[in-house]
Amino acid sequence: MAYNKNNIFAKILRREADAEIVYENDHVLCFNDIFPKSKIHVLIIPKNEYSNIYDFSKNSSINEKESIFVAFQALIDLFKLDKKGCRIITNHDVDGRQEVPHLHFHFLGGQDLGKMINI
Ligand code: AMP
Repeated sequence: MAYNKNNIFAKILRREADAEIVYENDHVLCFNDIFPKSKIHVLIIPKNEYSNIYDFSKNSSINEKESIFVAFQALIDLFKLDKKGCRIITNHDVDGRQEVPHLHFHFLGGQDLGKMINI
């Protein structure tokens, strides 16, 4: 699937749309979800153009992959979730019901999230 440069996260990356940025590194941007499903709901996105997790898994560099996990740890530290935990999810394709076609991980926490939630 060709990357769609008009998606909202691409606009946030180009600073054409606003976002509440909470963390950033060379390869990753993290910002609050506009419709939070839990007390903490941050979206973690790669800065380069990857449509989804399959695209990223296949085509990203080791540095880009590592930077995602660096961002996970930065958010765990930022929100002090080392003891309470969190949930990290990515949706993809028909069964995953991904809506925005730029890879994003949902970082959820700050409360008991239940066994599983629909997002
Ligand atoms: P998904 O269904 O996994 O593609 O999730 C897309 C997420 O993007 C949803 O949780 C939306 O609330 C969120 N979202 C859509 N537009 C924005 C925006 N402008 N800023 C922040 N989050 C957004």
